[in-house]
Amino acid sequence: YRRDNDIPYSWGTAVNVQSMAFGNMGDDCGTGVAFTRNPATGEKKLFGEFLTNAQGEDVVAGVRTPMPIAEMAEKFPEAFAQFESVCKTLEDHYRDMQDMEFTVEHGKLYMLQTRNGKRTAQAALKIACDLVDEGMIDEKKAVAMVEPRTLDTLLHPQFDAVALKESKVMGKALGASPGAACGRAVFSAEEAKAWAQRGEKVILVRLETSPEDIEGMKAAQGILTVRGGMTSHAAVVARGMGKCCVSGCGDIKMDEENKKFELAGKTYCEGDWLSLDGSTGSIYDGAVPTVDATIGGEFGRIMGWADKYRRLDVRTNADTPYDARKARELGAQGIGLCRTEHMFFNEDRIPAIREMICSDTAQQREKALSKLEPMQQSDFEGIYEAMEGCPVTIRFLDPPLHEFVPTEEADIELLAKDLGKTVADIKAIIAGLHEFNPMMGHRGCRLAVTYPEIAAMQTRAVIKAALNVQAKHPDWTMVPEIMIPLVGEVKELKYVKSVVVETADAIIKAAGSAMKYKVGTMIEIPRAALTADEIAREADFFSFGTNDLTQMTFGFSRDDAGKFLDAYYDRKIYESDPFAKLDQTGVGRLVAMAAKLGREANPDLHLGICGEHGGDPSSVEFCHRTGLDYVSCSPFRVPIARLAAAQAAIKEAQ
Ligand code: PEP
Ligand code: MG
Repeated sequence: YRRDNDIPYSWGTAVNVQSMAFGNMGDDCGTGVAFTRNPATGEKKLFGEFLTNAQGEDVVAGVRTPMPIAEMAEKFPEAFAQFESVCKTLEDHYRDMQDMEFTVEHGKLYMLQTRNGKRTAQAALKIACDLVDEGMIDEKKAVAMVEPRTLDTLLHPQFDAVALKESKVMGKALGASPGAACGRAVFSAEEAKAWAQRGEKVILVRLETSPEDIEGMKAAQGILTVRGGMTSHAAVVARGMGKCCVSGCGDIKMDEENKKFELAGKTYCEGDWLSLDGSTGSIYDGAVPTVDATIGGEFGRIMGWADKYRRLDVRTNADTPYDARKARELGAQGIGLCRTEHMFFNEDRIPAIREMICSDTAQQREKALSKLEPMQQSDFEGIYEAMEGCPVTIRFLDPPLHEFVPTEEADIELLAKDLGKTVADIKAIIAGLHEFNPMMGHRGCRLAVTYPEIAAMQTRAVIKAALNVQAKHPDWTMVPEIMIPLVGEVKELKYVKSVVVETADAIIKAAGSAMKYKVGTMIEIPRAALTADEIAREADFFSFGTNDLTQMTFGFSRDDAGKFLDAYYDRKIYESDPFAKLDQTGVGRLVAMAAKLGREANPDLHLGICGEHGGDPSSVEFCHRTGLDYVSCSPFRVPIARLAAAQAAIKEAQ
């Protein structure tokens, strides 16, 4: 509970000692619990329960069925009138909805406790707006009193609350991407797609997901993985899609080959129903019905106020026009990270990228890349259009190439046939791509250093797309931003940048255009943070890739840490998942140092964050304090970041 609610272990537990009032001394006694407003909807109406001749425990434990608070008015008119007036006094004093416990002893009212009441996100928004309208609080207070994390629950489908109570929890893992999903178990991306095409709702259950699963993830209602953490591929991609994902359920005994798994003593075969809650990480047996989210006018009002008071810009991590549009609707001011590799996994592109990987010469590679170029260009045009002239940062190819090659025998045979090579040739190429630690292997800018023609192709696609969109929309100012990933040494950046600049300048000149563009880098390797002053002299912007920066600073993998982090929480070594909530003491120190060094060397340096932390409220507050210019997060977390950024600014001013 402390971890879920950001309450440090080091804080104690407060205890009030007070004299006892008795609600169980006869029929002129009673006890109750009440909220000054409805905690589920926010409606301004007393909400609560009452029991005669009882103690508070009897209400809370549910051993007797209490009566609605209104009935107390008939039984104890005087005490009730006094109670109503106390409610008003308390609300006026605390200027927030109160959750109170009280006792009536021989007709006399005793207040036992009051506190600001817990509430749903919907109620939080309504109460905050109503309190402003009632003149009780100002806009800043309203912005400060809504818990940013809870906004998630408003945007995704939700379980029917009554049905959920009756459902059986089979297991619990990481709530990696919120939402409520219910569907039939399938065990591969292909099956997910095939079942979905037949109109079935499916849950994709995998040991872990690989980029090849993307189509299956799209087709599924939700994703359940045995391995992985909060920033594993499955979590990142699912959040980007606004798709429910529960990851790292180590209790699952998986038998992929026979299309089944075991959890909490039950065997689930292909087609069996299960339900996932991506906020709590709970896995339910069977099909729990869901209802669509409804967003009321209060959401827009609070967001409008948040925008008025925040200093940080909020961008989004989006790889498709669909995600980009969604993020714009939710208030994103630009794209902070477009991961280009996700586009390569589409069915129509993967053959060309495989052809490129299997090329023997630079010429062959160029030929394969020339097939990809128009597709990339049209991807970027779509994204630029969706963002309507807002800034877009496009990150060049990042993952190790082995992620693109086939693993199934049939696919290998097909590829061999397509490329006029033998199966043995292809297998030798795949074996050659094997790395012991691919996350620290041939990836990021290292790909562009070895194959500069990839960077050149991506530059052509970025610039040509921007020129085309600029021509169509003369009122927009297109300034494409090219981001080089995984730089650890300034000369790496310098080299790749030279390829980008040479290619871009030639195209812009040939088009007779004066379009400007930016070249920047991600800071995701500790060495880059340590030498940020050198790197800043070659960069227009830094974007902190805190997923990789966290894994490389801690020295443990973002995909494997889930296996042992629970033991670290139990032993109170870590209080939270450093991949979800930025480790401000260690990783944060690198970020702050790099920001300072970078700005000193290059005062115009634009600073942002695009790791998953960009959508986490406490990390957003850190980014504000550290003086970054923007945060970037997945589309559905944009409102959370907007609100968290405003709260950080308001807190600082106070
Ligand atoms: C990062 O490392 O923080 C990042 C945003 O890049 P990716 O997650 O794609 O490695
Ligand atoms: Mg990275």
